[in-house]
Amino acid sequence: MDIVTEPIGWIEVICGPMFSGKSEELIRRLRRARIARKSVQVFKPSIDDRYSSTEIVSHGDQRMPSQVVANTREILNTLDWHTQVIGIDEANFFGPDLVTLATQLADSSKQVIIAGLDTDYLGRPFPPMPDLLTLAESITKMLAICMRCGNPAKHTQRLVESTDLIVVGASGMYEARCRRCFEPGVSKQALMDFARPDMQS
Ligand code: ADP
Ligand code: ZN
Repeated sequence: MDIVTEPIGWIEVICGPMFSGKSEELIRRLRRARIARKSVQVFKPSIDDRYSSTEIVSHGDQRMPSQVVANTREILNTLDWHTQVIGIDEANFFGPDLVTLATQLADSSKQVIIAGLDTDYLGRPFPPMPDLLTLAESITKMLAICMRCGNPAKHTQRLVESTDLIVVGASGMYEARCRRCFEPGVSKQALMDFARPDMQS
């Protein structure tokens, strides 16, 4: 009897703090999928239009065209069902519906590659990443470089005062910090810098 092996779908998660290279790793994997002649679609949330509204842009300025969507329903509506590999950047902006969608896509033989922050500005698990991590076939945790001491950094330090879970911004508003240098919430140094007369415009 011939055994016909149909390719199965799966979920790959790339997580870590800001500046750790999640977008670069996502772009690298999607480029390799294209080299393998797989059909690829890339999505990013419209909330994140820091650098471009039509591309994923890494902090090192690597770019890849992407489809911009407001929510997971729009991913489903925009998806071409012939697409084999689906990349999703900034997953932490999509909320819990992404868990259902990623599972549904992987169950439909799609390769789903998801990149997102695993912890928030207080160092807490950032939904829906924890659920995605438990459901994924493959997990990659990226580390950045601590901007205080140069050690490996797993935290995203917020430098501006806000208690909102989501404050979209990059350099100047956030920096990578290691476990020891991380100050949950707003960096005291940033507050002190802000109070210094020579830092005020
Ligand atoms: P992420 O998607 O995790 O925010 P990116 O892929 O957009 O990260 O950017 C990673 C790039 O950011 C690095 O290759 C490097 O050029 C740059 N970078 C800036 N600050 C840092 C830092 N503190 N640690 C590591 N890389 C940094
Ligand atoms: Zn440090």
